[in-house]
Amino acid sequence: MIDTRILEITAELARAKNIVIVPHKGPDGDAMGSTLGLMHFLRNKGHEATVIAPNDYPHFLKWLPGNDEVIIYENDKERSDELISNAEIVFTLDFNDLNRCGSMQDALLESDAVFVMIDHHQEPSDYAHYTYSDSKMSSTCEMVYKFIDKLRAAKMITPEIATCLYTGIMTDTGSFRFSSTSSHTHRVIADLIDKGAQNDKIHNNIYDTNSENKFQLLGTALQNLKVNKDLRTAYISLSQEELDRHNFQKGDTEGFVNYGLALDGIIFAVIFIEKENENIIKMSFRSKGDFDVNKFARAHFEGGGHINAAGGKSNLSLNDTIVKFNEILPQYSEQLKK
Ligand code: 5GP
Ligand code: MN
Repeated sequence: MIDTRILEITAELARAKNIVIVPHKGPDGDAMGSTLGLMHFLRNKGHEATVIAPNDYPHFLKWLPGNDEVIIYENDKERSDELISNAEIVFTLDFNDLNRCGSMQDALLESDAVFVMIDHHQEPSDYAHYTYSDSKMSSTCEMVYKFIDKLRAAKMITPEIATCLYTGIMTDTGSFRFSSTSSHTHRVIADLIDKGAQNDKIHNNIYDTNSENKFQLLGTALQNLKVNKDLRTAYISLSQEELDRHNFQKGDTEGFVNYGLALDGIIFAVIFIEKENENIIKMSFRSKGDFDVNKFARAHFEGGGHINAAGGKSNLSLNDTIVKFNEILPQYSEQLKK
């Protein structure tokens, strides 16, 4: 669609002054990188563009250019609702269904702005007037780069934009190692470095700013690791008590699930995290190869995502959720066994 309708989008942009850009709830590097990258681009084109995130995001993203201007919906509802109701265009980035915006969804549903979705998750809902969806893309940041390029504006990519887009491509590809990383991804990355993204600084800001508490929590998580060799599955759990004991901060468990996949022979890894204040168990699923964790999360844990990375939740206790998981697992033995 994007190629045939890019002229229409260009015309919409020419008309619009006020633009709101929204990442998904629990924004990650790709969500914040893509929204802030697009924000800088639109501001440089003369629009009043604002990023409104449904809720707060981790400390390791708070150095991104433009971070200080992000509005957190949960903390600033009145101002956000006004910006949304005045917006002529709303860009929704890095998610495929409005319910991924949490409590911000209602304000978005009431808006009569033109909606543009840019996203790489499977099975996009059709709430947007313009849907740029491509599940083969490594990241939404790679798509924002392509979007700017299709608007014939690649020359307008500043060091700030390049930094934001580099960050999201890097985090969503596990630093360029997941199978979603294509030669195109590397070409985009090369161009972003040419345009001013400082790769060493970005890697340092994201990966080398850990707290001692986070590493102690990782120690606990790894102590809790369980392995089912036969079904090539590994899982980790963290209870609320364990999180509290290590003074858990948002983002501290980011990447923990990948340790399961780093075990020899394991193709399916899960982390179960107790969230007492929401009364849920939040899960992250990761896989290698053909095992589709998006389908798994959708079928059993009210979730979704991509083939190799998805999330979900459960209303059972932590223990009962793990019991349920272990009961379901044998149904997939044909795909999981060697
Ligand atoms: P993470 O495990 O890092 O939170 O998420 C992995 C992927 O699954 C991300 O692309 C994320 O957007 C998606 N995802 C995580 N949780 C959910 C969920 O509850 N529902 C849906 N539909 N997708 C999710
Ligand atoms: Mn993404």
